[in-house]
Amino acid sequence: MIVYFNNEFKELEEVAVSPFDRGFLFADGVYESIRTYNGKLFRYKDHLDRLRKSLKETRIDFKDLGSLENIIYELIKKNEIKNEALVYLQITRGSAIPRTHSFPKEKISPTLFISVKELNENNEEQEKAVKVILQEDIRWLRCDIKSISLLPVVLASQKATKENAAEAILVRDDIITEGTHTNFFAVKNETVYTAPKSRLILEGITRKVVLEFCEKFKIDHREEFINKDDLKSYEEFFITSTTKEITPVTTIDYWTINKGEIGKITKSLQNVFKKVVEDY
Ligand code: PLP
Repeated sequence: MIVYFNNEFKELEEVAVSPFDRGFLFADGVYESIRTYNGKLFRYKDHLDRLRKSLKETRIDFKDLGSLENIIYELIKKNEIKNEALVYLQITRGSAIPRTHSFPKEKISPTLFISVKELNENNEEQEKAVKVILQEDIRWLRCDIKSISLLPVVLASQKATKENAAEAILVRDDIITEGTHTNFFAVKNETVYTAPKSRLILEGITRKVVLEFCEKFKIDHREEFINKDDLKSYEEFFITSTTKEITPVTTIDYWTINKGEIGKITKSLQNVFKKVVEDY
């Protein structure tokens, strides 16, 4: 595997990260996951804007955002990826000795790491729907930053895996925020609901795409928090992300929704999504 690490394309085995890297010590860094359709990075500008925001909010001084797109395409080429690629990009504040919580006194260069892998185009989850579980949202209060500090996500995802669920949906003070790596949607009376943009959720690019579809096709939609106690009043559910696209949810904990059938609005949004990415 060839990766990009601090200004160089390298064989993975040749990469050495300092144990004093602040990403390693403090999870002091941010990341993005981007995929291609027809070999083209999907909604690259949106991902770049979100990365810019994450860097600004964490005050990581990474200057060279403009060159990333070419590096990513070059990396895809070097890894001889034939079908679609999933790109992982991480920037940490950099490495500094001694270890101090506050920013290092001397100026340090951020550490950049990019890897790509071939996407396994298995659409079973999208076609058959998935089960999710509810879990307490124990994350910090800046979930709008795509931070690499993901321990609460690791623990909730592991619980989901153990319970044969595709995702853990997070609940903070009785309101549903989002999934560990997805945004959460519900449908009631032909209206699509999802949590509003705030510090409690990551503004997913796929979420944005779905809301654009609702706007374009005149599907009523509201950015409102859903209370976990009202879940049973909704008729359809789905989750969205770069890799899960629009994935229907037909089981939440022990509740099977709509006899396990994918909802009508979910299906039509999936169809639009499919068309858009086919033509991308
Ligand atoms: N919410 C969280 C917490 C995530 O980590 C992600 C993606 O990783 C998403 C939502 C979905 O975002 P996107 O649609 O940009 O992949």
